[in-house]
Parts: sequence; C-alpha cells; structure tokens
Amino acid sequence: MRAHTLIIGGGVMGLSIAAHVAERLDPLSEPLVLLERRRLGAGSSGRSGAILRAFYSSRELIGMARDSLREYAAFQTRWGRAVGFTRCGVLTLAGSPQQIELARRNFAAMRECGVEAELVDARAMRSLARGLEVGEHACGVWEPAGGFVDPQRTLEAFASLARSRGATIRESAEVVRIQCDGARIVRVSCDDEEYEVERVVFAAGPWSQRVLGLCGVQLPLRVVRPEQHFVRTPKDVRRDSSPGAPTVELDELDARFGVRREPPAEHPVLLDLELGYYTRCEPALERTRVGALDYERDAVLDHPDALDEHVGHEFRRWARERLVTRLPRYADEPDHGAQAAWYTLTPDAQALIGPCPGLDNAFVACGFSGHGFKLAPSIGAGVAQMLSGEPVGAFDPQFFAPTRFGASPAAWSGAFGL
Ligand SMILES: Cc1cc2nc3c(=O)[nH]c(=O)nc-3n(C[C@H](O)[C@H](O)[C@H](O)COP(=O)(O)OP(=O)(O)OC[C@H]3O[C@@H](n4cnc5c(N)ncnc54)[C@H](O)[C@@H]3O)c2cc1C
Repeated sequence: MRAHTLIIGGGVMGLSIAAHVAERLDPLSEPLVLLERRRLGAGSSGRSGAILRAFYSSRELIGMARDSLREYAAFQTRWGRAVGFTRCGVLTLAGSPQQIELARRNFAAMRECGVEAELVDARAMRSLARGLEVGEHACGVWEPAGGFVDPQRTLEAFASLARSRGATIRESAEVVRIQCDGARIVRVSCDDEEYEVERVVFAAGPWSQRVLGLCGVQLPLRVVRPEQHFVRTPKDVRRDSSPGAPTVELDELDARFGVRREPPAEHPVLLDLELGYYTRCEPALERTRVGALDYERDAVLDHPDALDEHVGHEFRRWARERLVTRLPRYADEPDHGAQAAWYTLTPDAQALIGPCPGLDNAFVACGFSGHGFKLAPSIGAGVAQMLSGEPVGAFDPQFFAPTRFGASPAAWSGAFGL
C-alpha cells in the first residue's frame, strides 16, 4: 500500500491533523492514512476533561485557545458533526497574593488577545457558581465563553470530517516497524499491512517515545499518571437564571437548522488555584470530575502500558474534600467512580510540534502536557500549513520547536502552562 501522508495515533491530535491535512490532498494521488493501534480515544484523549479555557500566561497559548474555542463552538453548525460543546463558562479562582497577581496578569494578556474575560470579586464569583464558598480576599477570572466538549464525540467528529475528505482511518492497526533509508522513512508496517510512505506524522501521545524509538529518535518526553475522582452531580440544582449565570444559548442559525444543543452543566468549570484542583460537570454521565492542577502527585511511568487503573483512597479523599469545601452542596452526593490516565510531559510543559529531529520526512506532534485538547483545532490547522510548506499562522513554530531544549533540557517544570 502507499500512503502519501501517514499519521500514527488516533487521539485528538492525530485526528485533527488528519482532518486538516486531508482537505489539502487529492485522495487518489495523495492518500492519507491514519493508523491507531487500538480504537480512537484509547489514549489520553478518551479520558480527557476537554475543558476549553484561555487562562494562560503565554500569549501564544491564549491566542490558540481563543481560535480553537471558536472552532469547537462552530463545529456542529459548520460541519454538521456534534462535539458536545457546552458553554458553561470557566471561572479561575485565585487566593494567595501570588495567585492574584498571576490572575491579574493573565487577565490583562487575555484581554489584549481579544478574549472575553472579566476580573471578578468574591461576591460576583458566588453569583456565577451558586453555593460557592469563597473568602472575601479572593479574586477570579471569568471566561463566559469557555466550557468544554465531549472528548469521544470530538474524536468521532474529527474522524468523520477526515474520512469525508478522503482519509483512511484504521483502528486495531499498531505500527510495529519503521524502515529508513538514510534520514528518510520509507516504510511503516503494522502486523497485517505495509505502507510505502512519503511523509509521517508521529502523534502517538504517551507512546510517542516508544514509536519514535522504532527509527532511533529520542525526544525529551516523560509519561506521568494523573488521577481523577468523580462525584454524582447534584440533581436538585435548578437552572440559575441570574445575570451572568451559565447558559446554553440557541443562536438564530442553530434554531433555524434545528441543531442539537447539549444539556447544560450545573455550574461553570472551576480552576481553583487556591485549593489546587479543577472541576467540571459531565452532564451526559451525571457526574462531576475533580483533578489536580499540577503534576506533583503523579507517578512517572516507565511504560504507558503499565498504567495501574486503580485509584487509591487517599486521592479520592483529597479530591472530594476540596470539592465539598468549595461547593458544599456536593456533601450529600455519592462518589461516582475514579480514573487514572496519562499525561505526556516535556521539560517546559509545552508540546513538541514540527519537523522530527534526525529525519527528513517526519513531523512530531506530542508532549501536550495535560492541556492539549483545547488547542487541537489550532494544532491541526498549523501542522497542515507546515506540511504543505505554507507560512504557519495557526501557531508559532518556534514556541513548539522539538529542538528547543538542545542537548541538555532544563529542569522539568510547569503546570498545564498556567
Ligand atoms: C485526565 C486528563 C484530563 C485532561 N484534561 C484536559 C482538559 O481539560 N483540557 C485540555 O485542553 N486538555 C486536557 N487534557 C490533555 C489532553 O487530553 C491531551 O493533551 C490530548 O488528549 C493529547 O492527545 P494526543 O492525540 O496527543 O494523545 P492520545 O490521545 O494519547 O493519542 C495517541 C494515540 O496513539 C495511539 N498509538 C500509540 N502507539 C501507537 C502505534 N504504535 N501505532 C498506532 N497508534 C498508536 C494510542 O493508542 C492513542 O490512541 C487532559 C488529559 C488527561 C489525561
């Protein structure tokens, strides 16, 4: 078989890249093939919180989050495929003087980048998230346009868009061998098929190091194991109709074409810098997710397949206590499961995107460090521009350059690039 462009990995990055690249290729003379070793979403993407916020310190990321949010919000209207977009707003809560300083700086940068955001005091925060317990000293950044998508439906939507543009997406197709001729990859093999390739994109998430190792490439990547805890979402909460409350709007165009909207979330997404956790409702599953806002408690995994799925009592108690402290109405709700997953980190907690060091016809898009889902539309658009030799406008290639660490990377740091 021949693949003009072969993408390894069926997570949100591989699929967004496939959808964007396929648009530029002729399916007959330039076939695009995506190989996924298990099923779409078998890696980090399928377990993601998929929260869409622009609260970042870096203007580069703020711009990408802004553009990607627009893409997600318009996806169903534009492409007729639902991604489960829910605009419930995102509230980032800061408590200590340093956090308040960070919140003010990020807020100013967000506004400069054209992101709709407000700096809010404790009183305003209480009205945005009913029942929120917060001290008078705290301040917050409110993003009314933020929210989340449904990760699995987003993957299906990207896959369906890519297929409609002529891409072939194969599941249960693990890349097990890569053959090079000098610095060029010439052949990529699964157990049952061999592909003569012109170019390859590595988007294998936590398995990236292993797959890159098949052609002798080493990049500064580390896989860690975050945990999430789930609590049942309170059922007695009614829709809050106060000004600024989370809403799901039916705009005129949606109403005209009968586009389906998601059930509303019970409260905004909360990034709680003071207590070190984030939470978001998952309306379809009637549960609320709680995860940590840094990587400090996450075990380093030597091999992503060695993921221990059991989440211990200590983390569950930690998560529940934080949620109930901030939103006491969860106190009466039972636990609703827990989950372990993978983050693929780089030393500065930003992804590696661009030409693969040491290879002439390969690109990498990996190391999204626990905050990539929201950026996937921009990543797909930018990698497509890169591959077709156009100026890259969707992101700054220097910011993500895989070679930026040189021979000896600095200390590993960062928390979701906040
Ligand atoms: C618990 C959790 C919560 C998160 N919350 C958020 C959030 O709220 N907002 C946000 O923006 N981001 C969030 N993220 C981060 C985001 O989900 C990731 O950055 C993103 O999903 C990474 O996607 P990916 O395509 O690079 O990797 P993956 O989704 O891991 O995809 C890689 C794929 O490659 C496949 N693969 C591996 N080896 C091979 C092979 N040899 N052959 C073929 N296929 C192979 C795997 O099976 C896998 O499906 C979260 C992540 C996690 C884990």
